[in-house]
Amino acid sequence: MSVSSASATDKGLRRSTNEDSVSVREDLGLFVVADGMGGHAAGEVASRAAVEGIVAFVEATQTMSPDQTWPIPFDLEQSVNANRLRAGFRMGNRRLASQIGSSSELRGMATTAVAVLIDGGTGTLAHVGDSRAYRLRDGQLDRLTRDHSWVEEQIRVGALSEAAARQHPWRNIVTRALSGSEDLEVDTQEIVLQAGDRLLLCSDGVFTVLDDDQISEVLRRKTDLDQLCGALIQGANDGGGPDNVTAIVLEINAV
Ligand code: CA
Repeated sequence: MSVSSASATDKGLRRSTNEDSVSVREDLGLFVVADGMGGHAAGEVASRAAVEGIVAFVEATQTMSPDQTWPIPFDLEQSVNANRLRAGFRMGNRRLASQIGSSSELRGMATTAVAVLIDGGTGTLAHVGDSRAYRLRDGQLDRLTRDHSWVEEQIRVGALSEAAARQHPWRNIVTRALSGSEDLEVDTQEIVLQAGDRLLLCSDGVFTVLDDDQISEVLRRKTDLDQLCGALIQGANDGGGPDNVTAIVLEINAV
C-alpha cells in the first residue's frame, strides 16, 4: 500500500482562532481531523486532546491483538483496526474529561472527530459528530460518513434538503461529540481501497459552504494534493465561510 497526502487548515474569514486540529501520520497510515467547540481557547484544547489521544493510542497498538488487555472491551464483531480507532476515540475522550476536571474554564468543551486508518487495501473509518469523510473514485464522489447532527436527522426524515441544511441556523448543532462523558459511541466502518481513490477528511467549514458538486470538481483536478487542499480552503473562504476550515486529501497510489 502506498498513500500520499496533504492537509491544510485555516481559521476562516470571521474567526480569530482555529478550533480545528489535524494530524497526518503516513507512517501509521492514520489521518485525523477534529473540530472543537466551547468558546475561547476551549475548542482548540478539545480538538487537540482528541487528536493526540487517538494518535497516541493507534501508535501504541501497532502490534496489539484481540487476546491482549485492551483499555476498553475488545469488540469481537469488529476488526482489530476498528477496535484501535474506537478505543483511541475513547482515550481521546478521557483526555478531555481529565482536562475539563482540572480547569473550570474548559467546562462544556467538546469536539467532533473523523479518522481513517489505512492498512493494506483496507481503510477503517471512525467518526463522531459532523466531521466527514468522502471518497472520489472514477470521478464519482461519495460521502462515507453520516453526520451526527440535527440537520442530518432532519434530512433523513425528509424535513430538510441538503441545500437548506447548509443554510440552516442550527446547521452547527451536533448530536454526538467527544465531550468527556462516559460511554462515547463511535461509528466505524471498513472500506476496500483501490489504486487511484482519493479520500477527503474535513471539518464542516468545508461542506457548509461547498456542495458535493463543488467538492467533487476540486478533487477531480489533476494537480498535486497540496493544491487540492488549498483550493478547498480557498473555496470555503471565497464562499464567505464563517467557520474554521480543515481538509486532508489522500491518494491511494497502490494497494
Ligand atoms: Ca466547525
